[in-house]
Amino acid sequence: MSLKILLVQPTTEVLSGDNLAPPLWPSILASLTPNEHEVDFLHCGHERPTRKKLAKYDVVGISALTSNANDAYRIGDMARDAGVKCVIGGIHAYVMPKEAKGHCDSVMLGEAEYIWSKILSDIQKNALSPFYRGAVTEPEDFPIPDLSIYRKYRFFTTKLAEIVRGCPHNCRFCGATMYSGRRYRYKNVDNLVAEIENWNSKRRIAHFTNTNLIASPRKTNEIMKRISDFNLRWWSPCSVDILHHEDVLAKVADAGCMVLQFGFDSISKETLKSMNKSFNTKSDYRLLIKKCHDLGIEVGGSFIFGWDTDTKDVFKNTVEFACDADIDIPAYLPLTPFPGTDIFNCFSAQGRITTTDWSNYNWHHCVFEPKNMTGEELLSGCYHAFEESYSTRSIFHRFYSRPRGSKEMALLLMFSVLGRSIISFSRPYWNGQETFAQRVTRHIPAHASSFKHRA
Ligand code: SF4
Repeated sequence: MSLKILLVQPTTEVLSGDNLAPPLWPSILASLTPNEHEVDFLHCGHERPTRKKLAKYDVVGISALTSNANDAYRIGDMARDAGVKCVIGGIHAYVMPKEAKGHCDSVMLGEAEYIWSKILSDIQKNALSPFYRGAVTEPEDFPIPDLSIYRKYRFFTTKLAEIVRGCPHNCRFCGATMYSGRRYRYKNVDNLVAEIENWNSKRRIAHFTNTNLIASPRKTNEIMKRISDFNLRWWSPCSVDILHHEDVLAKVADAGCMVLQFGFDSISKETLKSMNKSFNTKSDYRLLIKKCHDLGIEVGGSFIFGWDTDTKDVFKNTVEFACDADIDIPAYLPLTPFPGTDIFNCFSAQGRITTTDWSNYNWHHCVFEPKNMTGEELLSGCYHAFEESYSTRSIFHRFYSRPRGSKEMALLLMFSVLGRSIISFSRPYWNGQETFAQRVTRHIPAHASSFKHRA
């Protein structure tokens, strides 16, 4: 019996770039699904699932981050209520398998490549196991994602490719090493090139969803040479180490890079050390930003506030640095100790985790007791940092800080609008005011249960 499978991307109540690019996992699962089955995709940021919609399928597959875990569980409950088999994966299910199993029929732990077709075959045999553990995928087995699954919705881009998986660094706030392993695994270059050749639309904007574009300078160099003929315009996360590989940075620019996103995370060496991110201190952030700008690459840079080494002046000092160093797309986030990470375990042992309502783990709440400030001060510090960096004056300053082509101007405009939208949307959360979800819950009782769950 062939199966009708619905892959569902849950969402959170906060702005999460749902229109920018879709998540990669549904296209990977679609590509791993044997041809005999039918696969469909539902993105909760674009369309809400209902029991009636779910009931049309034999299997619902969900991937959960901590920030959208409650929504994922609600969908799992709804699918099971409709008599549909439900399988959950993703980093949150990996860390909290028993909790996830309470809302789904089966939990897929780890990577899907070697296990997804076995799960489907077990469903066909009516022999689904409660837990499956996927082995670490060897790079030659990384599939070519089936991007056709995204046709149903409008995204800024659906050209997604994963070049590197895994990360050896194990920063205390990040789950990448735990979930994807310590070994950097590069996609086979020929496979990557074949994948990009398949992108047949005229729009050549792409998102490379790597843990670190410069994991191996030699391999990145080779890839950049191979993809430079495709006339792509793309963005990717990257480590600040790229400063020490100027030849690779030049190739990255030649290959069409529009934006590199750096996790600067802090301007304090002491704080970087306490994050287990001392490797960042070996790179001069200002010099890196200048070199990117000289090559026409825009710089996205994020900072995390609320570490035990952060005092109340961290907000002002960091914003001054971001403006002075001319970061094009700055972002400021309150430290969020996600379950499974070292910082969560540490705060938990110290009794400093204030809530395990996962819907609050969305960068818009303070979920622990900071040391040198209150939770309210942490959130309002993030808000004011955003407001300062995306004030009209700061945006104008960025626009005229150096010459740009029309495409670069359009890109900067788009990110400036996004920054302003984050400020408008996030103001109530970060300033402790009533949120949209709470207003709806208060005024429209008929919708209350759906929003309450997510608020
Ligand atoms: S923050 Fe970046 S460098 Fe650190 S563990 Fe996560 S992916 Fe690796």
